Amino acid sequence: MGDRFGRRISYLRVSLTEHCNFRCRYCSPLGGTPRFTRPEHAQPAEWDRLLTVFHALGIRHMRFTGGEPLLYPGLGERIAHARALGVERISVSTNGYLLERRAPALAEAGLARLNVSLDSLDAARFAAITRGGDLERVLRGLALARTVIPRIKLNVVLLRGDNLSEVPALVAFACAHGYDIQFIETMPLGSAGAATRARDYVSVAEAQALVSARHALQPVARGPHDGPARRFRVAGSECTVGFVSPISENFCSGCNRVRLTATGRLVYCLGQDDGVDLLGPLRAGASHEALCDLVRERVFHEKPERHTFNDDPARAAPVYMMRLGG
Ligand code: SAM
Ligand code: SF4
Repeated sequence: MGDRFGRRISYLRVSLTEHCNFRCRYCSPLGGTPRFTRPEHAQPAEWDRLLTVFHALGIRHMRFTGGEPLLYPGLGERIAHARALGVERISVSTNGYLLERRAPALAEAGLARLNVSLDSLDAARFAAITRGGDLERVLRGLALARTVIPRIKLNVVLLRGDNLSEVPALVAFACAHGYDIQFIETMPLGSAGAATRARDYVSVAEAQALVSARHALQPVARGPHDGPARRFRVAGSECTVGFVSPISENFCSGCNRVRLTATGRLVYCLGQDDGVDLLGPLRAGASHEALCDLVRERVFHEKPERHTFNDDPARAAPVYMMRLGG
């Protein structure tokens, strides 16, 4: 499957639920996000049909995200279904709160790659950023996950007023425990994201300078499934550090991804809300071939050339529709 700008689409991000047990201040409004009812969410058999359609169209990397995907009870079954389809890379992005309970079963379902959000190693600061998150519990979940899931990457959203001073300590923590780590510029998605961007934006160049002052960084060649991060190996360790720069350096020309929301909507770009409902046609009896044709045709004509949240914040997607799934 490709688009009119010559890009091949091989990466699908699947928001299995819009619900979340954290309220990170760059992502979620204070009162939380709208709660969809069960019939509005895609049901297990519907998810499996949709995943089958996307695999048939050439998706080779599926990332399960949210909201918080560990709140979704059928996560293991969806991972097992993606594996049975032959998807080459399957990953999950989580806030880590439920990892202690769920990591072993996810590993058993075949999960080999996990991204865990960790914006601070200071318990009070972590609680402030996530609006109540329990750092100790996340760290326990991470330690357990490390024993059963081979590849773990930490995601850090850069926030000037909060965690900029912790960048070196976060890299040291990742290296000491065998995790990869990536730093992400905060994006103005939704009202929470816009407020944070205005107040706390830090470019990855600034974070990279802080890391380089302590560690020699060796560039890592890009693999076929790699995302937009510039990656470096920390000399003398197995740890890699990545820098994702959606604001300071536009990487849309290499974009290979589309998204599915929890309500079965296909969305073409991480920074916009435009998309097409797939659940309605599926529930109305559309065949596998008809769904493939619909997705192929809409992606080709509708995927935009680039995100517009830098120059047109009004078109930025409400974040509850557009979870990033880093
Ligand atoms: N709840 C899971 C988590 O936190 O990892 C998965 C969903 S979350 C939306 C996926 C990633 O998007 C997280 O790493 C989060 O930090 C990042 N994210 C959310 N809002 C963001 C924003 N405004 N700018 C940059 N990254 C953001
Ligand atoms: Fe929830 Fe993840 Fe958003 Fe934080 S970043 S509020 S954990 S979805």
